[in-house]
Amino acid sequence: MKTFCGRANPTTGAMEWVEEDENYDYHQEIARSRYADMLHDKDRNTKYYQGIRAAVNRVRERGEKAIVLDIGTGTGLLSMMAAAAGADFCYAIEVFKPMANAAVKIVEKNGFRDKIKVINKHSTEVTVGPDGDMQCRANILVTELFDTELIGEGALPTYEHAHKYLVQEGCEAVPHRATVYVQLVESKRMWSWNKLFPVRVEAEDGEKIIVSPSEMEKCPGVPSVCDIQLNQMPSSDFTILSDVVTMFSVDFSKPVRSAPTCYRVQLEPVKSGKAQIILSWWDIDMDPSGTINCTMAPYWVKSTSAFQWRDHWMQCVYFLPNEEPVLQGEQLYLTACRDEYSVWYKLQKAREEDNKADVRVESPVCRCQAHLLWNRPRFGQLNDQNRTCQYVKSLMKVLKAGSVCLCVSDGSLLPVLAHHLGAKQVPYSFHFSDLCFFKANHLEDKIKIIEARPELLTSSHLEDKKISVLVGEPFFTTSLLPWHNLYFWYARTAVTRHLTSNVTVLPQSASLHMMIVEFQDLWRIRSPCGTCEGFDVRTMDDMIQNSLNFRESKEAEPHPLWEYPCKSLSDPQELLTFDFRETVPPHGLSTEGSVNLLRKGKSHGAVLWMEYHLAADISVSTGLTQISNEKGNCEWNPHCKQAVYFFSSAIESQTLSEFPTAVKYAINFDTKTGEIAMDFKL
Ligand code: SAH
Repeated sequence: MKTFCGRANPTTGAMEWVEEDENYDYHQEIARSRYADMLHDKDRNTKYYQGIRAAVNRVRERGEKAIVLDIGTGTGLLSMMAAAAGADFCYAIEVFKPMANAAVKIVEKNGFRDKIKVINKHSTEVTVGPDGDMQCRANILVTELFDTELIGEGALPTYEHAHKYLVQEGCEAVPHRATVYVQLVESKRMWSWNKLFPVRVEAEDGEKIIVSPSEMEKCPGVPSVCDIQLNQMPSSDFTILSDVVTMFSVDFSKPVRSAPTCYRVQLEPVKSGKAQIILSWWDIDMDPSGTINCTMAPYWVKSTSAFQWRDHWMQCVYFLPNEEPVLQGEQLYLTACRDEYSVWYKLQKAREEDNKADVRVESPVCRCQAHLLWNRPRFGQLNDQNRTCQYVKSLMKVLKAGSVCLCVSDGSLLPVLAHHLGAKQVPYSFHFSDLCFFKANHLEDKIKIIEARPELLTSSHLEDKKISVLVGEPFFTTSLLPWHNLYFWYARTAVTRHLTSNVTVLPQSASLHMMIVEFQDLWRIRSPCGTCEGFDVRTMDDMIQNSLNFRESKEAEPHPLWEYPCKSLSDPQELLTFDFRETVPPHGLSTEGSVNLLRKGKSHGAVLWMEYHLAADISVSTGLTQISNEKGNCEWNPHCKQAVYFFSSAIESQTLSEFPTAVKYAINFDTKTGEIAMDFKL
């Protein structure tokens, strides 16, 4: 069956009704899911298996039957481990129907049909009793319901309910406990994801400083977790201010309370500095004694050399509401508060003696709007002084005394820069954003906000003036893939009749670039697994492959590649250029060719990104910034996501001793739909 879904096209800006197969969402969910990544997580799998074996043995040694409840069984993996370890019976609960169906098939294929009952329900709907889903309560509780923040996927309410209704008192739990760790750091880099630093502009009449409003300075930001691959953050990018401290633990074998609560620990800085960031991660003990431990500790904490890469569990960055100077040796109190699904932090200098139980810390709510408008990478981008410099230099080249300037970008500082750089006429800017920003910089009447979409621009908005300089970064919050920012081109086309005949467009053009890469680890998230701990999970592989192939042409997916090391196997190749000085052509743009592979390696996929040519000799790249050594290690723009197109045959080529020497490509930009279709042949 097909359904029609209304959506704004991110590239063309057009409102369109797309005919979507009703299965589209579910295929997307499976194709982009983390199941493959989890099945490739050897460290996690072996430790679960050890923990489950030990729990089954403990129960059987007590002379009891081992009845397992596996909440969120996914592929059925943990239930199969339990059955193989000698459990008498397993109830495998899975709420996501396609997964529950897959689990049934996988369980059957591995010969556990008599031992495992798959129940397609949310655990809170499961019934116990002679006519219920479960005959009796279980005495072993197995789950893997954790996200990077531990509790973000609802582990606490699920456990709370399971202890009340589904398991026996004194049951075994795998994992047995989870512990959350924190470390206080100072980091200009990470802090730049949360606050706007003063922007310096070298204008002809001296330096101008754009400041952020005091509301923004004081704003505690948004509560959403910032989860990153902290192992990709070089130690030079942060200063450790405290030892690693245990913040709180949860014992999963006892009744769990999900109600909001706070935890407080004492902290003594090992170094003086600015307290800005709490880095956090967790570990799980699979057994009560804690001998089977699976940890997310980052590289500078972990003692073992055996390092497990994973993307389904990373580390968290929490921004303290305000930065504060702290002194080595002084007494600090760090409070972690959580509700059912998220955690936030507050640092205090002296103990509030009044009432310990009363230390309720409000969940952060953005008061300045900026944290709602700009996400963390966007903050980082706006704070990139080097990038700003390129825009300043280019604006200086194109702005003249009589310029009438119009800015097309979301939540952009460009109109402010244009004003400071001597656009004598008041610059216009589309109202894509509502910022108190202009007010703080006393610009309310220096910049005119147009409350209309570009397609609906009229000459009265522009007071009958014609635009002589059209500027954009371009940046739009609706962009997911690099080329979605080509919306600038469509907006430029829509406002054409308001432009002077010799209008200057900045950027004057953009180009799409591509490079073939070998990923150090990211390939795992899209690679079939075959068998996992001896269990045949190919049904899952097939299901993912089927979902990936659901659309005739495969899609590229956005990834922030600074977090995912890769090696270039080819030179970067320019594929297409988009001339913003002209309107969007009615015909599509396409190219084909082949790119030579210069290094030995596994061609996992192609990375694509955009470069913007601001003025004749000034360009900014949203992708590759450098190939840092002869091994081909790449450096990427840290504020942008790049597009990754995974080759489906790359996995096969891993087993071949001969590597292909070239990759053929065919790329087509459909100007009607704004979509880029691509095809690669190894
Ligand atoms: N146990 C598997 C899969 C873990 S992913 C493994 O370790 O490989 C977590 C799964 O739990 C997802 O498939 C999700 O759909 C399911 N899930 C989460 N909360 C649930 C709940 N309360 N009841 C039933 N299923 C749940």
